[in-house]
Amino acid sequence: MSSMTQRLTGTVKWYSTRQGFGFVTPDAGGDDVFVHHSALKQGLRARIDAGVRVVFNVEHRKKGPSATEVTLDEAPPAPEAASPAASGHFNELDLTPDLLRAVDEAGYAVPTSIQVQAIPHVLAGRDVMGCAQTGTGKTAAFALPILQHLAASSNGHRSGERRGRPARPTRALVLSPTRELAIQIGDSFSAYGRHTGLTNTVIFGGVGQNPQIKALQRGVDILVATPGRLLDLMGQRHVALDQVEVLVLDEADRMLDMGFIHDVKRILAKVPRQRQTLLFSATLPREIVELAADILRDPVQVAVTPEQPTVEAIEQAVYFVPKQKKQALLEHVIRDAKMARVLVFTRTKHGANKVAKKLNQAGIQAEPIHSNKSQTARQRALKDFRDGRTRVLVATDVVARGIDVEDISHVIQFDLPNEPETYVHRIGRTGRAGAEGVALAFCADDERPFLKDIESLIRTRVPVVPDHPYRA
Ligand code: AMP
Repeated sequence: MSSMTQRLTGTVKWYSTRQGFGFVTPDAGGDDVFVHHSALKQGLRARIDAGVRVVFNVEHRKKGPSATEVTLDEAPPAPEAASPAASGHFNELDLTPDLLRAVDEAGYAVPTSIQVQAIPHVLAGRDVMGCAQTGTGKTAAFALPILQHLAASSNGHRSGERRGRPARPTRALVLSPTRELAIQIGDSFSAYGRHTGLTNTVIFGGVGQNPQIKALQRGVDILVATPGRLLDLMGQRHVALDQVEVLVLDEADRMLDMGFIHDVKRILAKVPRQRQTLLFSATLPREIVELAADILRDPVQVAVTPEQPTVEAIEQAVYFVPKQKKQALLEHVIRDAKMARVLVFTRTKHGANKVAKKLNQAGIQAEPIHSNKSQTARQRALKDFRDGRTRVLVATDVVARGIDVEDISHVIQFDLPNEPETYVHRIGRTGRAGAEGVALAFCADDERPFLKDIESLIRTRVPVVPDHPYRA
């Protein structure tokens, strides 16, 4: 079968855990190399993802080159792989004072990796393919340079020159798979753009159209939309996209999962071909790679590798429990297992507040931490947690990424996430640096489908705790 083998280094281009294969781009150049999960050596299976550095042999097979004996590259990355402005200050990113002021007011001290990597390229007008999840700061990575671009050339667009057109043509369009994400993106544009005079509006389904139509009639510079409602309003001629200069597809993989890809393509057909396109996706399944090849021109690729846990080192268990008994179960397990440093995940900010409050009432020191808390409050909560004054931190996923605490003994998922990848990220918060960790999950009846998705992603069954006092 194999004609020759050679040991090579390279970077994973994309890898689908679900499908069990992906591709590696060899440093030496040449064709991307196919990698099947059976070729991954111990320990790499749980960590392989876009951007991960690997060493491998190549077998030249009929269908093309295929990797074997794939291991993690422990050598430091090549210098060009490092981020362009590695020193990391916002004022090194060539942003205008208006934007720097807003960033400062948002309480950001230093740019995140995706911001350092992407902002210079977006400012330079390049198309970007960004492999990054929510929580990495990706919204600012595209919103800041878009605002800067629009603000720099907004004269002449402010007054409607043609009859029947809104006073401000839409010049940037951001497509989001969900209403929640769309709202967050709109809020981010408002926050970062507050000193620029640029306007944005968010349109999504499930609510009345009229307020959205009114906002569109007033004219907006930046439109954030979910695909379905946007198409509806386009069909009714409330939206004109012929002046769009920048298009962003956010969470493209999720749009695909949610079946929006045809809607997205229909929208794309109405946006000028001469434009800048930015595509962000947490994972790079084949369809996204193909879509990217279709719609991006000579894109710059930027990626932040999510922290990958070594799932094997983590003891996992799931409790089946009715929703209304979860709190009692939580108090029971925290007390019973003498848990030292516990990170509890809830789906919502409100949930985090409620759980923490009830734990405190039960005499267990706990603090909620989520994005509605000020930076100072978050930092204080973290310090108390690190110093052992607070035993339990109750967090939402977005802020949990920024929690840099090494020895978390237990992760408890009070709510199961609807995205299976989130489960893996959450359990990865324990068992760091070789330490043993324990990850417990609470599963109510209506969360069983989520558990099924999780188990098919991690390809194992999560052991069920058979006996506990709060079963159905
Ligand atoms: P995103 O990945 O865009 O959803 O952002 C995740 C969270 O990080 C949001 O709450 C942002 O407000 C916050 N964030 C974005 N950039 C920074 C930064 N440079 N420093 C601190 N927080 C940030």
